[in-house]
Amino acid sequence: MRTRSAIFRGAKQPISVEETILQDPQAGEVLVRVAATGACHSDYHAVDGRNEAPMIPPLVMGHEGAGVVEGIGAGVTDFAEGDHIVFAIRPMCGKCKYCSTNRPNLCNGIGNEPGRMRDGSTRFTTPEGETLYHGLATFSERTVVPEWSLVKVPNDVPIERLASIGCAVVTGVGAVVNTAQVTEGATVAVWGCGGVGLNVIQGAVIAGASRIIAVDVDDKKFSFASDFGATDTIDASKLNAVEEIITMTNGGTDYTFEVIGNPQTTRAAFEATCPGGTACMVGVPPEGGEVTIPMRPLFFDRRLIGTSAGTGRPRVDFPWFIELYKQGRLKLDELQSRFRPLDEINEAFEDMLSGEVARTIVRP
Ligand SMILES: [Zn+2]
Ligand SMILES: [Zn+2]
Repeated sequence: MRTRSAIFRGAKQPISVEETILQDPQAGEVLVRVAATGACHSDYHAVDGRNEAPMIPPLVMGHEGAGVVEGIGAGVTDFAEGDHIVFAIRPMCGKCKYCSTNRPNLCNGIGNEPGRMRDGSTRFTTPEGETLYHGLATFSERTVVPEWSLVKVPNDVPIERLASIGCAVVTGVGAVVNTAQVTEGATVAVWGCGGVGLNVIQGAVIAGASRIIAVDVDDKKFSFASDFGATDTIDASKLNAVEEIITMTNGGTDYTFEVIGNPQTTRAAFEATCPGGTACMVGVPPEGGEVTIPMRPLFFDRRLIGTSAGTGRPRVDFPWFIELYKQGRLKLDELQSRFRPLDEINEAFEDMLSGEVARTIVRP
């Protein structure tokens, strides 16, 4: 069928929105009409050339979204036409070591090459027959994905409200609750208040943190941070955030989260923990990036840990998030600052870079 998709054709050039040809879903695959999809920084890392490796052009972009099932391939029994779904950024084979031990975020049982389906082919081409690579390909009116990349969600919540659950929400809230396991009453500091950082902040609220300190260099982001539950803010363009946090908390916070993917701020996050504290790197690291930390503080029971996709268990966590949202305990509406059509995908990323939005949501 003919559809329209946003295609990455190489770093430092605009994403182009083009007519594409989408094949029918094969065995174990599902055709989805994308209702809403978030402009997430991890796609932009390819566009600006910082981290191009996983993105082989020409590639249909997008990995965070929600939609409605329009067709199923042979053997699909968990999904039917009309079902509402949320895309999970990591697939879940259900059989590998990680899927079998409650760590499906680390699933290694699929064995597909980046940008291709398991059989090595792709489902998208241009009308001229050019192969288009893709993962979830949510920056498209329609997409075809393996069933193990989808989570069925209740039909009684507006589907576009769930657009960011599969990436920003699970990565942020999951880092706090699943990975670092922040305890009630703990103190928390967060570097970076973009879409994921705001979800780290609301994750800390859900976990019962006593004090949540938001650090950024863009003061436009602090009103979002406060709305999502930050108790204090530090403008790191004007102040030394580590010194400020150590002074404010009498020795450092119990948990810190780095949501930028930068060696300096990862080190700063480690240095701002108290003895026994945990620093968690949430941001996507640059290709070949390295971080150094001082050994003496490490000696005092501190931990520096990583988190991938919020150590999320999509089929457990997504329904939980939706339940919290229905009860007013998880902010999703507030995350959606602006809506744009697919043709304005480049503008959606400009919104993100401007710091004026929590998230721009594209409605293909
Ligand atoms: Zn993302
Ligand atoms: Zn697996």
